[in-house]
Amino acid sequence: MPELPEVETTRRGIAPYLEGQRVSRVIVRERRLRWPIPEDLDVRLSGQRIERVERRAKYLLIKAEVGSLISHLGMSGSLRLVECGLAAAKHEHVDIELESGLALRYTDPRRFGALLWSDDPLRHELLSKLGPEPLGGSFDGERLFQLSRARSMAVKPFIMDNAVVVGVGNIYATEALFAAGIDPRREAGSISRARYLRLAEEIKRILAHAIERGGTTLRDFVGGDGQPGYFQQELFAYGRGGEFCKVCGSTLREVKLGQRASVYCPKCQR
Ligand SMILES: [Zn+2]
Repeated sequence: MPELPEVETTRRGIAPYLEGQRVSRVIVRERRLRWPIPEDLDVRLSGQRIERVERRAKYLLIKAEVGSLISHLGMSGSLRLVECGLAAAKHEHVDIELESGLALRYTDPRRFGALLWSDDPLRHELLSKLGPEPLGGSFDGERLFQLSRARSMAVKPFIMDNAVVVGVGNIYATEALFAAGIDPRREAGSISRARYLRLAEEIKRILAHAIERGGTTLRDFVGGDGQPGYFQQELFAYGRGGEFCKVCGSTLREVKLGQRASVYCPKCQR
């Protein structure tokens, strides 16, 4: 599933080819995504210049002169640039053709993604209640500490709650808790301020590092086939249940927290 670093990598990859370009037409081959693509998307977007490509949480906002396209990649979506008119394979549902001769192509085998239109995207119901960006100035350990007081839920689902901070998916929550030495099962309200300050720093460090790694594959967003170049994570805990801890050699344990698999080291995390 594309997580925040992949979405940011996508934004950086496509933005230089979109910003300042005028849309010549929109071709929709399959309208049925998580929500239907608006019938009038071609009418609304064609002829408009794209001003900015921004990101909020895991949503990409393609801002035109009037209105914005809100895109979410869902479970399996991707965006890349192709030559206009390149024959579409299965699952390549939408082309946004530009006057440059390139087209932004949306591919999504499982169709859990979204392409929606909004005149004011930050006030759209999907975006209006989101918490702060993890790499922005309004997210820090003090926020985690304050919001967690008297909360009895486990710390891992707490930091994955979009109202607390956006974009901390299962991979990054698992890895940040490992790096901060915090057991993912601990009650959110029982963790000290000092440990939350450390945890917030680890969330920022790990997400920033993943975005930096993704940045080395930007050329893959133009031409070629298949997925843009997402990147292998250097994982300490995520997906490694039953394997040896890279730090202490103990066997990593796996539990379910909030319906999600959660791997931790019983020695390094407490
Ligand atoms: Zn360990």
